[in-house]
Amino acid sequence: MEDSATRHDSTAAVGYDPTAIERKWQRLWRERSTNATDIRGAERPFYALMMFPYPSAEGLHVGNLFAFTGNDIYGRFQRLQGHNVFEPLGYDAFGIHSENYALKVGRHPMELIPKNIENFRRQLERAGLMVDWDHSLSTTEPDYYKWTQWIFLQLLKQGLAYKKKAAVNWCPNCKTVLANEQVVGGVCERCKTPVEQRSLEQWFFRISDYAERLLSNLDHLDWSDSTKTAQRNWIGRSEGAELTFEGEAIDCAIRVFTTRPDTIYGATYLVVAPEHPLVDKLTAPAAMSDVNAYRERTKKQDIVARKTSTEKTGVFTGTYATNPATRQRVPIWIADYVLMEYGTGAIMGVPGHDARDFEFATRFKLPIVRVVCGERDDANAPLEAAYVDCDAGMMVNSGPLDGLTVSAAKRTIVEMLAEGGAAKPVVNFRLHDWCISRQRYWGPPIPVIYCDACGTVPVPEKDLPVVLPFVEDFKPDDSGVSPLARHEEWYRVACPTCGRHARRETDVSDTFLDSSWYFLRYPSVGNDAVPFDREITRKWLPVNSYIGGNEHAVLHLLYSRFITMVLKDAGHLEFEEPYTRFRAHGHIIREGAKMSKTQGNIVNPDEYIESWGADAFRTYLMFLGPYEQGGDFRDQSISGTRRFLDRLWSSVQTMTTEGNADPLVTRKLHQTIRKVGEDLPRLSYNTAIAAMMEYMNAVRKGERTPHRDEVTPLIHLVAPFAPHIAEELWEQTGGEGSVFDAGWPNFDAALATDDAIDLVVQVNGKVRGKIHVARDITQDDALETAMSAPDVAKFVTGPPRKIIFVPGRLLNIVA
Ligand SMILES: [Zn+2]
Ligand SMILES: [Zn+2]
Repeated sequence: MEDSATRHDSTAAVGYDPTAIERKWQRLWRERSTNATDIRGAERPFYALMMFPYPSAEGLHVGNLFAFTGNDIYGRFQRLQGHNVFEPLGYDAFGIHSENYALKVGRHPMELIPKNIENFRRQLERAGLMVDWDHSLSTTEPDYYKWTQWIFLQLLKQGLAYKKKAAVNWCPNCKTVLANEQVVGGVCERCKTPVEQRSLEQWFFRISDYAERLLSNLDHLDWSDSTKTAQRNWIGRSEGAELTFEGEAIDCAIRVFTTRPDTIYGATYLVVAPEHPLVDKLTAPAAMSDVNAYRERTKKQDIVARKTSTEKTGVFTGTYATNPATRQRVPIWIADYVLMEYGTGAIMGVPGHDARDFEFATRFKLPIVRVVCGERDDANAPLEAAYVDCDAGMMVNSGPLDGLTVSAAKRTIVEMLAEGGAAKPVVNFRLHDWCISRQRYWGPPIPVIYCDACGTVPVPEKDLPVVLPFVEDFKPDDSGVSPLARHEEWYRVACPTCGRHARRETDVSDTFLDSSWYFLRYPSVGNDAVPFDREITRKWLPVNSYIGGNEHAVLHLLYSRFITMVLKDAGHLEFEEPYTRFRAHGHIIREGAKMSKTQGNIVNPDEYIESWGADAFRTYLMFLGPYEQGGDFRDQSISGTRRFLDRLWSSVQTMTTEGNADPLVTRKLHQTIRKVGEDLPRLSYNTAIAAMMEYMNAVRKGERTPHRDEVTPLIHLVAPFAPHIAEELWEQTGGEGSVFDAGWPNFDAALATDDAIDLVVQVNGKVRGKIHVARDITQDDALETAMSAPDVAKFVTGPPRKIIFVPGRLLNIVA
C-alpha cells in the first residue's frame, strides 16, 4: 500500500506541483476569508450541510472524506450558481465512542478530544473543503451543551419528557443502556457483547406522540427514497383493533391488539408478554414455578433478539379466557415473542393465518383452524403453513363473517364486537418513546434536581449549563448508575425552589440528543444569549441540502425531525421539517473488500493527498462510482484522475489565442457544460467527471494545441471537484478574486443538442427494436447497424426486398 500511495506518475505536467498550489490556496482562502459566509448579509443563502463526524483518535477516515467531498462539490456548485453558500462542519464528540476509547488508552476524554479535533481540522483543511471555520462547534463545549440541556427543559416543560422504570437493553461490557437501534443481532453494536435486559428508572421523550406527523410529513420531503422507506418502517404504523378476551380469573380482561380482527374465529389461544402486569393473576398456582423460571430466562435476552428469534418458546399459565366471537375457551400462554412495548403486550394466537403463531402452535400442539380460504382451497383441509394472502382470501368457518372478503370482515367484526364493548378500532405504531438516559460519564448532565420536598425540579434556565465536572474515575461500574453518582461534592446541591438539601440527576443524556439540533446552532455560533438567533434562523433554515449516511436513517434523522417539531410547537421555530432535501451517500470498499482496522486495509487520506494532491484524491473518490451507491477504491486507478488534471494544467500552459476554436470541439464543449450542469445537482459526480475527461480527450486529440476558448470554461466545470488547481488556473488566465465567485459557464442549447437519436427499426411493418445512431446517419449505415442487432436480424429471413427509410425516425425492412 505504501507503494501505490507514493508512486508518482512520470508523465506529470511540467510546473504542476499540487502540494505547493494546494498549500498556497488554503493559505489564501484563510487570509481572504474566502470560505467564511456573510451570515447576516447574505442575499441568496444556501445551507449545504453534512453530517458532522465523531473525532476519533485515528483521524479522518476515507469514508468521512468521501461523504464530505460529495457535499463540498454540491456546495461549491451552488456557489458557482450565485448562491451564498454556508458549509459548516463541527464535531459530535460526546458519547460512548470517545469514552470507551479514552478508557482503553487510559487517558481522559477531556484531554483527548481537543487533540483529536485539532488533527481532524488539519486533515479537513488539507482536503480543501469550503468549510466556514468561524462557525464550527463541538457538542462537548459547555456553550454548546448549555443549549442541549435547554432543549431537555423545553421538552420537560411541554410534558414531553418523563421518567419511568423500563425494561432496557443493557450491555454488560459497556455497562450502559442501549437503544433498540444500537442492538444488532442481539449484540451491542459497539463492542459485540450479547445484550441483556435490565429494569431501570430512565428519562424518556414522547416521540411516539409525534408518530403520525413524523410519518405523514415524509410524503412531502425531497429525500432519498431508501431513507424515507427506512423511517416509514421504523415508525411502523398499523391499523387494527383492540379486542377483549375475558379471563376466567377475577378482573382479568385481557386486551389484545391485532391487525387481523377478521381472523378472530381462528384465535385458538392467547399469548401475553412475560412482563405483562396480569401474569401473576393469570397464572394457576400449579404453573407458577414454570412461569417464574420462564420470566427469569426472558430477562437475560435483549428485545431485538426476541423480535427476530426463530425458535419459539413459551409456557402455559394453566388458565383460560373466552374468545368473544366463538365463546370458546382458549388457553393463555406467556411467550417471549410477544413484547410489552408493542400494542397491549398481549396477542390472540391465530396459527392458521400468522406465520409466527403457526410455528408456536405447531411446537406446542395447539389447534390450527382455517378461517380464510383462497379460491381453490378446501376450507376444511389441514394447513401446511399460515395462509396470509389478504387480497385473494374469503372468510370461512367464521359464522356471520363467512363469504366476506378480508377487508369487509375486518370492519364487520369490529362493529359487531364493539356493541358488547369487546372491540375498538385503534392505530398502532412500532415507534417507541426515546430513552435518553445514559448511565455514563461522557455526556451533558441531565438538568434536573430531586428534592424530598419539591420532587423533580428542573434546573432554572439561568443556571445552565450544568457543567460536566472533571473526574478522574469516569469508568462505569455494574451498579447501573452513572459514575457521577460517586461524586457527592458534585451532586449535592440546594433545591432551586426551597433551598433544602437536594440531589442532581447523575445520568447524562444520549449523544443523539446532542446531534438532534446542531444544524440549528451553526449559523448562530458566537451568540451566547440564545441557542439560535431568530432572524438568522429565518434566513438560513430549514437546511437546503443535507448529505449523510443511511445508517442514520432511523436514529439521528428521526430524532432531529422530532426535536424540530417540538421546538416549532413551543414557538421557537417557524418550520417543522429541518432538512428540505436529504441524500444518502453510498459507501466505499477497497479492492473489493470492506475496509476495517482488523483487515489493515483502511485508506489513510493523508498519504494519498501527500503523493497525489487533494484535488486528484477528491476527484478520484468521486469517480469511484455513483455517489449514492459508493464504489471500489483501487490504488492504481487514482493515476487516471491525476493524469486528467495534468492534462488540464498543460492545456492552459500551451493554449493559443490565435485563430478560432475548432467547431467540433466547441460543440463538444457545450454538450459537456450542459452534461456537468445536469449531473451535479443529481450528485451524479462520476458521470460528470467522465464527461470532462472525454472532453479533454477531444481537446487534446492528436496532441493538438488547444484554443483558449476551448479550455477556460473547463476551469469552472472542474472547480467543484478540484478547487485548488481551478483557483490557480483562474488566476493564471487573468481571473480576479476566487473562481467560485466567477459564475458558471452558459451553454448554447443549439450547439449542445445531442447528435444521437433512437431510430425505430421495423421488419415487415412490426417494431423489432431501436438503434442509437447519429442523427444524420445514411440509409446504408442504418441498415448495417440494424442488421447487426440480433433482435432485428432474426426476423429478416431472406434478402431484404424493400427498405423504407425516414431519416431521423424510422427504418422499415421488408423481407
Ligand atoms: Zn457494548
Ligand atoms: Zn425543594
